[in-house]
Amino acid sequence: MGAIPSDFLTDSSGPDLPFPALTPVANGGAVETPDWLTAIPLPAAILSISGDAIQIEAYNASYSIRFLEQARAWVAGKGAEYPLSYARVVRAANSGQPSSSFDVVKDGALGTEYWTCALGRLADGTDGARRLLMTVVDRTNERQTEKNLRRELVLDSLTGLPNRTGFGEEIDARLTDGELEPITQYAILTIDLVRFSRINESLGSLADDELIITVARRLKSSLRQGDILGRLGGNEFGIFARLNNGLSDALQIVQRVNSALGPPCRLSNLQLSIEIAVGCALSEDEAETPEDILRQSQVAVKLAKKSGKMEIYRPGVLRQAWRRFNMESNLREALANGQLDLAFHPLINLKSGAIAGFEALARWNDAELGCISPVEFIPVAEESGLINPLGRWAMYEAAQTLAKWDRQFGKPLPIGINVNLSPIQMARDDVPNVVEEALRYSGISGKRLTVELTESAIIADPEKARKVLSVLKALDVSVAMDDFGTGFSNLASLQRLPIDILKIDRSFITEMLMDKDKKAIVRAILSLAKSLKLATTAEGVESAELSHALASYGCEHGQGFHFAEPMPAEQAYEFWLARNS
Ligand code: C2E
Ligand code: CA
Ligand code: CA
Repeated sequence: MGAIPSDFLTDSSGPDLPFPALTPVANGGAVETPDWLTAIPLPAAILSISGDAIQIEAYNASYSIRFLEQARAWVAGKGAEYPLSYARVVRAANSGQPSSSFDVVKDGALGTEYWTCALGRLADGTDGARRLLMTVVDRTNERQTEKNLRRELVLDSLTGLPNRTGFGEEIDARLTDGELEPITQYAILTIDLVRFSRINESLGSLADDELIITVARRLKSSLRQGDILGRLGGNEFGIFARLNNGLSDALQIVQRVNSALGPPCRLSNLQLSIEIAVGCALSEDEAETPEDILRQSQVAVKLAKKSGKMEIYRPGVLRQAWRRFNMESNLREALANGQLDLAFHPLINLKSGAIAGFEALARWNDAELGCISPVEFIPVAEESGLINPLGRWAMYEAAQTLAKWDRQFGKPLPIGINVNLSPIQMARDDVPNVVEEALRYSGISGKRLTVELTESAIIADPEKARKVLSVLKALDVSVAMDDFGTGFSNLASLQRLPIDILKIDRSFITEMLMDKDKKAIVRAILSLAKSLKLATTAEGVESAELSHALASYGCEHGQGFHFAEPMPAEQAYEFWLARNS
């Protein structure tokens, strides 16, 4: 807090008057004190004003020595110290107003004192002087209580740091403080203790208070002069930092925070490492308030908790984050309510033109978000753990659809069905059991099912992959290596694992005729497949020319928009019927 002004009026209504000439007073309590004045339970005095001169005519017992000295200071010519108060009294006397009041803030021996002075008009004196009754209310205690209450509103009692409200107020004060160097850019960092909740559960709340205090202390030590630290919520801290060199300053602060929180923390007799997520937002233009930047920084920390790395807020991230959050909850609901569909994409024998089967592809048309591509929602399902129910549903649904076509046709169709399997599901689910159930419930023989895997499904845990694939083999199910050529193309694993089909990725096929290198790669993959006795399918066949070229290179099957686009189940059945009658 800065120096207290020597005098201030809450309702000052005009410029300070020039310092008035003073009439010396003969004697402070010259006139006999009337009874009614004695009866007033407040410090009260009768002032007599003529022109610019004030005299104290009488005062009561409550009019303590402090007020008396104050009044005497006016009268004795020291009014220069409180010119506004002095002027106020003179003006009140000369205005003829029946009453008025003003506040005085004063540095006392025990700290700042706050008084409210009230003036009331009395009958003029016999000499024609104006007379006023002045009462003084000491508001110092009241103001102190207010200040304490206010402190509680803006401070976190555990750490003594500003809470969210206080943090915002300190930032506002810092940004508008004319005496300090003006701030052109700043960052707000949000720091979240990631493991906080676990500590809370296992060690109890005393331990977590201790942790919060330790973190607060360490964060405080990592601040530069003028930075502001606040506790925004249970396990969330905020740092306001002025930037001179944009982002690089912010990154340095993050580095300092990390090294301050790096050493493990002793709680009772446990050593705990402090894990944090950091979100950061920079002020970009003046239209954004610190409150906006703080919110952005909190969005960033939410993302940081998921990604495990520090996140910097970028415009648009908020929208993306919302879409992502919405998508996850809508997808959960869609799965629960059976609102997903399968589309079927024909697999064509390139030599004969016959339909060898269909690949089942998930489709989702959300009421709120519209048609969402699996390229977008499969990763969401993988991150949120929804991939297991989604993958199971796709497996059962695809097998049931083929069984339904068989029933419609009166006997088994001479085609198979391909189903995609996510590497995440491969790692987390009991895939052999899912496949076995899908076959058993639908009555489809394993020979007619192909599971499509990407190489990442094998790389993650080759031993598990080998076990899963050998169970699938035992069920007569085929395994296709999807998107071949884009991953590690680990030839050794192709040879060692029971894989039946290579699906050559679309990125090689579509441009093969214009790009010699791609053509060479496709031919190399085809000859490799031949020597490993693997069947081949080309993805992304978009023209008759491509289809012919691939057939002439010895590729067995093709899939692509040249033959058809993925279609709903009934239409796929009709498509097959039309080609086979
Ligand atoms: P994918 O397994 O490589 O599926 C082939 C994708 O290529 C499909 O896209 C298909 O519509 C598209 N495609 C086929 N022929 C052509 C063509 O000639 N030109 C072009 N431009 N595209 C063609 P879609 O349906 O959008 O699926 C994208 C990916 O999503 C799939 O790639 C697959 O990785 C994943 N996916 C789809 N459904 C499922 C599912 O049920 N489970 C899992 N785990 N993943 C799925
Ligand atoms: Ca596929
Ligand atoms: Ca593919």
